[in-house]
Amino acid sequence: MSFNFPYFRPPAGAEELRAEVREFIAKERAEGRWRRQGDFAIHYDPDFSRRLGERGWIGMTWPKAYGGGERSMLERLVVTEELLAANAPVAAHWIADRQSGPLLLRFGNEEQRRKYLPGVAAGEIFFSIGMSEPDSGSDLASVRTRGVKVDGGWLITGRKVWTTFAHRNHYAITLVRTGERQESRHSGLTQFIVDLKNTEGLTIRPIINMAGTHEFNELTFDEAFVPDDAIVGAPGNGWTQVTSELAYERSGPERYLSSIRLGEALVAAAGKTPEPRVQEAIGRLAARLCALRGMSLAVAAMLANGETPNLEAALIKDLGNAYERELIEIARNLQPVLPAIDTEFDEALAECTIYSPSWMLRGGTREILRGLVARGLGLR
Ligand SMILES: Cc1cc2nc3c(=O)[nH]c(=O)nc-3n(C[C@H](O)[C@H](O)[C@H](O)COP(=O)(O)OP(=O)(O)OC[C@H]3O[C@@H](n4cnc5c(N)ncnc54)[C@H](O)[C@@H]3O)c2cc1C
Repeated sequence: MSFNFPYFRPPAGAEELRAEVREFIAKERAEGRWRRQGDFAIHYDPDFSRRLGERGWIGMTWPKAYGGGERSMLERLVVTEELLAANAPVAAHWIADRQSGPLLLRFGNEEQRRKYLPGVAAGEIFFSIGMSEPDSGSDLASVRTRGVKVDGGWLITGRKVWTTFAHRNHYAITLVRTGERQESRHSGLTQFIVDLKNTEGLTIRPIINMAGTHEFNELTFDEAFVPDDAIVGAPGNGWTQVTSELAYERSGPERYLSSIRLGEALVAAAGKTPEPRVQEAIGRLAARLCALRGMSLAVAAMLANGETPNLEAALIKDLGNAYERELIEIARNLQPVLPAIDTEFDEALAECTIYSPSWMLRGGTREILRGLVARGLGLR
């Protein structure tokens, strides 16, 4: 097995589209609609999502019949890059656009696609991911939340944790054990669309993160009734479906642009004539960033071809995590920092320092990703 990162050529019109997104962002900023802060997963602004939806920049690649734009995956990437580079408040629609929508397109039925996708594309319906449990994070196949068949639906009992923005989003695609493990521990899992606003027996409680803010939640299901038509795909096929989401989750530019604000602040603080050691350090960081971008573009091209580049995606996430962690250390070593937040550099550094530990965990921990890569290379 070897990795495949084919050279990517930008689509026609990509630069015009990039200019259009930059102009939109500049106008938003000039009007004071939001300020640059936080990484993609925490800056939640439904009004901004709606404005993006009006522009056709959510669900860009989906069929027009479901509210999409029938544009290419690579055009979508141009928009994503610009939004992330500006630290735009994309958190509300992020999961739905990146992951839940493509999942429903691939495995959902016609009724589900028509029910949810137009609202997602309009920036009005938002999704969460209900995978992790108190004793089941990296080893997702061990989920214990259980669904029992009853007339017209299922009674779900169990607990999910770290469910980002479940207190604000509308639905969570939730992984549940509905059958016994048979020959494979991956069998018997099913994905349900759980209505987060109207499900009796579901309690959503906050989990405050180390930055002192509320993005995570704990979901407790106590015989919560979920109708049959909430099942995504075939009952028991949850494992195949959930793993197909992971290439979308792991390979995007969010895996190396969460810290872009700090990178830019570092360059600005270095000034026009930085000393050689500063030049060298920034040059090395820039080269790594370019390589990561090339790899991420290649994965986008493979996804556009209908491939499932899970291994390449795992590698990008791991290398992206390494880059972002080292950027923080390098920035701190290169610039004198006092315990105060007076400048753009100070604020960006503080923000990245507080949030970056979570970047290494979300979407799969570095140990797990490395295990996947090693297995792919035939090393274990
Ligand atoms: C910011 C953030 C947002 C998140 N949002 C969501 C969300 O919306 N929905 C959701 O479902 N989940 C979410 N998660 C949860 C995330 O997916 C899990 O934290 C992650 O999968 C790790 O699981 P865990 O925390 O249970 O750690 P564990 O699986 O218990 O791992 C603990 C440690 O052991 C190591 N480890 C575990 N197994 C192995 C192994 N086989 N070999 C080597 N080392 C191993 C891990 O690398 C890690 O260092 C989020 C997490 C974060 C940080």
